[in-house]
Amino acid sequence: PEEIKNPFILPRYVRVNLLKSTVDKVVNYFQKNDGYTLLPAVEGKELAHFKPKTFRKDFHLHDLLVFPSNTDFHDHPLYIDGTLILQDKASCFPAHVLSPPPGSVVIDGCAAPGNKTSHVASLMGNKGHIFAFDLDKRRLGLLKRLTTKAGCTCIEPINENFLETDPNDPKYANVEYILLDPSCSGSGIVSRLDQILNQKSQDTSNKLVQERLKSLSDFQLSTIQHAFKFPNVKRISYSTCSIHQIENEDVVRRALESTKEFKLSAHCIPQWKRRGLDGSVENANYVARTLPEEDYVIGFFVSCFERINPNENNNK
Ligand code: SAM
Repeated sequence: PEEIKNPFILPRYVRVNLLKSTVDKVVNYFQKNDGYTLLPAVEGKELAHFKPKTFRKDFHLHDLLVFPSNTDFHDHPLYIDGTLILQDKASCFPAHVLSPPPGSVVIDGCAAPGNKTSHVASLMGNKGHIFAFDLDKRRLGLLKRLTTKAGCTCIEPINENFLETDPNDPKYANVEYILLDPSCSGSGIVSRLDQILNQKSQDTSNKLVQERLKSLSDFQLSTIQHAFKFPNVKRISYSTCSIHQIENEDVVRRALESTKEFKLSAHCIPQWKRRGLDGSVENANYVARTLPEEDYVIGFFVSCFERINPNENNNK
């Protein structure tokens, strides 16, 4: 097979499920059993050229490996046993941003199909509890299957509207971390980078498109404002796989304008260079964005809110 030189294809990102193995053991497995060569970690456009049977540790995330784009894992024993999770790099950002320590109580407000929920469980070593909400029963069924395969034992799937949960229910009294990855336009999702160029030429001046984005962004804002109401929440990650400012920085700005209790956290993948759009929100450098054609990941946005005075009892 020839070296992959197609600059339009994203590499294959593989998350190591720490509930099943360690990164070192998985790296060893690919070297010893599958004849792969480990190359140094690189970022951005250097990922465009990837020889077959080579792989890398990710440049930014400790539990992620990067393979040539056409690598098929579906019959691989480590995929079948739930050790490997096929997940784009950018969609691994939110769990790292939230990074609840083992033992934490967490809400995933819009959880299905559960890739980020299982990632949070992996980082918590299955210690603690995750309430995983989703409105859609079928998608929640997918979450149950996916997280069971991944060996997650700390997840409670709940088929309810997150916006209708009572933040003062004693059940949620110890919730300190909330992950929000609500429905979005999905405009950043691409498997080929030339698709994103088509997306960009999409007419966002079209009235119907504008109306849809406005209604999505109002919903996205309401999830953050609902999360603010949980009395002991101290960190909230908000993410989308959209490239539109109206669903990203604008939602963050509107959320900040509506609270005195939360601010943006600087601990939002600080080593990632591409930050929020200039002038879109105060501290735009505290939020992170991706640009598929340069970063070689899907189009994504992530931000992190933290409580200003975490020790003040917010119970009113
Ligand atoms: N975080 C998921 C993952 O990484 O696998 C993807 C989440 S997807 C972008 C958004 C999800 O939010 C959908 O499954 C949708 O059914 C759910 N959703 C939409 N509105 C909701 C609401 N009000 N309450 C709970 N879930 C909701």
